[in-house]
Amino acid sequence: MLHASDYQLSFLSDLALKRGSITLTSDTVSVAFTKQTAQMDPRGQIGIDINERNVTWSDSAGRIERDDTSEVAELKECYRGVRAKIAERTQKDRRVQRCLLSRHGKRERIRTLQRLYRVTKRIVKHAQVNRFGIVMEKLKGIRKLYRKGNGQRASYRGRMNSWTFHEFQRQVEYKALWAGIPVTYVNARGTSRKCPSCGSSLTRVEGRKLMCPSFRRTEDRDVIASKNIMAYAVLQARPSR
Ligand SMILES: [Zn+2]
Repeated sequence: MLHASDYQLSFLSDLALKRGSITLTSDTVSVAFTKQTAQMDPRGQIGIDINERNVTWSDSAGRIERDDTSEVAELKECYRGVRAKIAERTQKDRRVQRCLLSRHGKRERIRTLQRLYRVTKRIVKHAQVNRFGIVMEKLKGIRKLYRKGNGQRASYRGRMNSWTFHEFQRQVEYKALWAGIPVTYVNARGTSRKCPSCGSSLTRVEGRKLMCPSFRRTEDRDVIASKNIMAYAVLQARPSR
């Protein structure tokens, strides 16, 4: 018996969509669609800075937003405990252990996806309404940072794990492409070193605040990072990957 929501079925009757391949698994049917979307000419940009506990973004119109994603980190922590307990209690039965572990892994993934979904939807909506392009950090260096045993410690603990980070970008990208919003990836090295307004080197004040010496004004480092990521889109001017 196949269950599909009205929303899902609406894709089947949308004449603007071209039907592609169909994938069957034991409990799902996936139908791939393609859509020809004209990419819009953006009037501005949204720069997104992704962290472990929040996603901070700012746009060309001066709007700054922060979405709390601490639930994602807590979820991960919680499931780590669950997994350890399962491993301990099912030591004698590897088959049961594998089965339970994979079931819990799936559950964690689904709940993480749902939480990220809310955030990515909001950002892409904002881009669409205001005709902004989206700029994010290129992942390349990030994966390397997460390689085990390369000496990184506390300084990188604040970042999302690479699966979540990647998934966040994947969601933004497919929603953006679907809506014709251009997505740019920039090399985000040094995004919290220079002032996004005047380029002066920033000094660290307290906590996560940074100060620009020419304006004598402090700002949150995540906000600064998102502004710099947005500015890098123009500086590095590379097409979306
Ligand atoms: Zn400045």
